[in-house]
Amino acid sequence: MSGLEQQFVQEVFASNWIAPLGPQVDAFEAEFAAAVGAPYALALSSGTAALHLALILAGVGPGDEVLVSTLTFSASANPVVYLGGRPVFIDSERTSWNLDPALVCETIERKARQGKLPKAVIPVHLYGQSADLDPILEVCNRYGIPVIEDAAEALGATYKGRAPGTFGMMGAFSFNGNKIITTSGGGMLVSADKGLIDHARKLATQARDPAPHYQHSEIGYNYRMSNLLAAVGRGQLRVLEERVRRKREIFDAYRGLLGDLPGIVFMPEAPWGRCTRWLTCITVDPQAFGATREDIRLALEAENIESRPLWKPMHLQPVFQGCEVVGGAVAEALFRDGLCLPSGTAMTQADIERVVAVVWRTHHPVKTPSVETDGL
Ligand SMILES: *Cc1c(COP(=O)(O)O)cnc(C)c1O
Repeated sequence: MSGLEQQFVQEVFASNWIAPLGPQVDAFEAEFAAAVGAPYALALSSGTAALHLALILAGVGPGDEVLVSTLTFSASANPVVYLGGRPVFIDSERTSWNLDPALVCETIERKARQGKLPKAVIPVHLYGQSADLDPILEVCNRYGIPVIEDAAEALGATYKGRAPGTFGMMGAFSFNGNKIITTSGGGMLVSADKGLIDHARKLATQARDPAPHYQHSEIGYNYRMSNLLAAVGRGQLRVLEERVRRKREIFDAYRGLLGDLPGIVFMPEAPWGRCTRWLTCITVDPQAFGATREDIRLALEAENIESRPLWKPMHLQPVFQGCEVVGGAVAEALFRDGLCLPSGTAMTQADIERVVAVVWRTHHPVKTPSVETDGL
């Protein structure tokens, strides 16, 4: 928390307007929409809820296929299954680690020839960096397939100067506790289409018809954000730029201290935009470094320092066994070698140096076999 949140929360207490909805929610939606440059925004209980509603509005139903990045968190794909749909997992490219546009194009064209188009495509913007949206939008527009952006990890990022999450039919953001800003839990759905946001708003509020009595003509959900949490969100939104600056500083500090180690490669920043460096991610080549990413993770853990492997690809998850996957080798290699280092914005330089010292200790210079001993 930045401290600013308290002022807005104070307003909530003073007005006794805790829930549901209320003026803080309205203000948070308007301020968030302005911050990302989206015409309409809807505050929800989670990013997962935002994706679920977006898929309902895209018309996804039983048996429908939806293309999703395989390298992601399960919440990108779960809502497809809530609706009886089938995720088709697509591999990453190496420039941004996100959805590979060439594979998306190839898959859509193949499905078109087979006579069954996917009902939606979900590009995920991982670790604070936008996917390469233009070629994905081009092929999806050509076939009339809605693009639903999972921007849960990418608030504060840019793609060609604009916020990822605002390019597709709808975009989903998250304010879960681990994200760059948080309301403890919450999400936002954005769109340029007022009709979609109005409909999502109704579905998220138990689908009440406009009538004085309780009347329903479709199945609704209880997905709205409370007025209390929206107040927290307003305070958080004001420090977003500051958070991005600090995240990038932390990344640069790690790179300065570890970048020269053989076999350590930092997550690339694609030429099409700004990565927030939500998490500092590296890959470790065990041959060159002399230890695996798991050796590093365990060494950190022994010092009570938490780090995590990159997302385990969805096509390797037991729960998604049997789902179609297109490619997969890039995501698998990133999972095998990738590690997210501690990246909290409250970290000090001393904290970073403590992490770095442990990584250095696991490094074993690889002996190059000499001609004299090996050759004889
Ligand atoms: C966090 C996250 C979500 C889900 O957001 P919640 O607010 O936790 O429901 C979805 N997709 C990705 C990629 C995420 O990282």
